[in-house]
Amino acid sequence: MQKLIIAIDGYSACGKSTTAKLLASKLGYLYIDTGAMYRAATLYFLQHYINLTDPKAVTGALEKIQVSFHFNERKKASDTYLNGLNVEDEIRTMKISDRVSEVSALVAVRKHMVALQRKMGKKKGIVMDGRDIGTAVFPEAELKIFMTADINIRAYRRQQELLGRKQVVDLDDIIQNITKRDFLDTTREEGPLIKATDAIIIDTSYVTIEEQVDAIMNMTVSKMIEITFPIENV
Ligand code: C5P
Repeated sequence: MQKLIIAIDGYSACGKSTTAKLLASKLGYLYIDTGAMYRAATLYFLQHYINLTDPKAVTGALEKIQVSFHFNERKKASDTYLNGLNVEDEIRTMKISDRVSEVSALVAVRKHMVALQRKMGKKKGIVMDGRDIGTAVFPEAELKIFMTADINIRAYRRQQELLGRKQVVDLDDIIQNITKRDFLDTTREEGPLIKATDAIIIDTSYVTIEEQVDAIMNMTVSKMIEITFPIENV
């Protein structure tokens, strides 16, 4: 069967990463969490007091940022590394969530990340989740999903996820953060969060992760069959 590029985009905290991770593992595909790349860049910018309005400082910083993913056997999941240091927990804090959309809106940052992400998907057999995967990174992706969900449900799920990381955050603060990020992500000039015309919408409000993964798995298999055995025009 031919390998595909699967793009999963959507609003913040819809369960994109969890779904993408499980799907990739079932398919034996590579999973790339592009949000983690933007979060790691934001951490670097904050740590080095980079002035976001100074294009030279931004470009200089981007050249010094190396983001990689390494499988953590204990957690059975990938951790994000910034310049060789494990920053998985640090990039998931509210401090980073509060600033990441501002950093991600910078044209230089987007161009840099999109170029890296395209390289990662060159060989196909990849599930990538983010905001602009089906529109800017891989407009040619064979399967595009656009995820959405009720804001209160998203916030509650994010709160539980943070609790799992031993971070206690008020639900209202999470709602505020998600709303702000969605606004900034959908209204920026470069690579805004927008549904690709050929993306399939999945509302995850009232479905379990397993049901989401099963649904996308079925779509993937159909797509693989369609590509591998195209029906000839008679
Ligand atoms: O997916 P996650 O919520 O971790 O993403 C964090 C932020 O990174 C988003 O709110 C968005 O500002 C940015 N992002 C982006 N493009 C992507 C992935 C994430 O701008 N492809």
